[in-house]
Amino acid sequence: MHLRLAHNDKGKPEVFRSFQGEGRAIGRVRTFIRLSGCNLHCVWCDTAYTWNWTGSDFRHERDEPGRPYKFSPAAEMSKVSVEDAAALVRALGESEGVVLTGGEPLMQSEALIALIDVLKRDQPGLKIEVETNGTISPSAELAQRVDLFMVSPKLAHSGNAAALALQPDKLAAFAALPSAHFKFVARTAEDIAVVATLAQTHNIPASRIYIMPEGVTSETLMARGQALLAAILAHGFNFTDRLHIHLFGAQRGV
Ligand code: SF4
Repeated sequence: MHLRLAHNDKGKPEVFRSFQGEGRAIGRVRTFIRLSGCNLHCVWCDTAYTWNWTGSDFRHERDEPGRPYKFSPAAEMSKVSVEDAAALVRALGESEGVVLTGGEPLMQSEALIALIDVLKRDQPGLKIEVETNGTISPSAELAQRVDLFMVSPKLAHSGNAAALALQPDKLAAFAALPSAHFKFVARTAEDIAVVATLAQTHNIPASRIYIMPEGVTSETLMARGQALLAAILAHGFNFTDRLHIHLFGAQRGV
């Protein structure tokens, strides 16, 4: 069985060890595996090299006149066997946990299950975290193998149609999983009000919700974070920064 893995800036599979930059496990040492392919097309996506292929007509904020922000699958993606992917993880040394991220990892759920089983065979106590956009329900087989789903449903400012990005049955499936926590990317206080409505509709406790300012520079994160804090606190939501942006900037594989 194979996985489609995204490439780092050296054209190699993006498997790396770093600090978790966002969400419930922020600051923890993790080994990251970035999967290629996404079923959403966010206009501000900072991993557009996992899905925004040459010839597609998806809009992106980094499009320039006559120079759309596009990527070639041949340059940005590799098919890697489950055993080889596990070997890339192993080569980085023992880690408390692995983060399966993307793109949208749940598009490759069967291969993820196989990979998790190989990784757990090597290290039975390994924590498994999955970052997902919340549009694909996890199978029972996957859910029982995952310690933390960091679910990030996308709001209107992402440019995705709500019918695609906010699917009630998928959100309900994640809300029913104790291992699922939610991370909403926000730009304005109005976004926080939308999150509050979603939380009420889907019965998601505030303690399982994180709000993260959208931005790929420290300056933007700081300004948006400060502008959003009062609204976040008023609803009792958690806040998450983007640690990797402050430490490394908007780079791949860090
Ligand atoms: S869901 Fe995530 S990976 Fe997919 S387009 Fe949006 S930000 Fe990018």
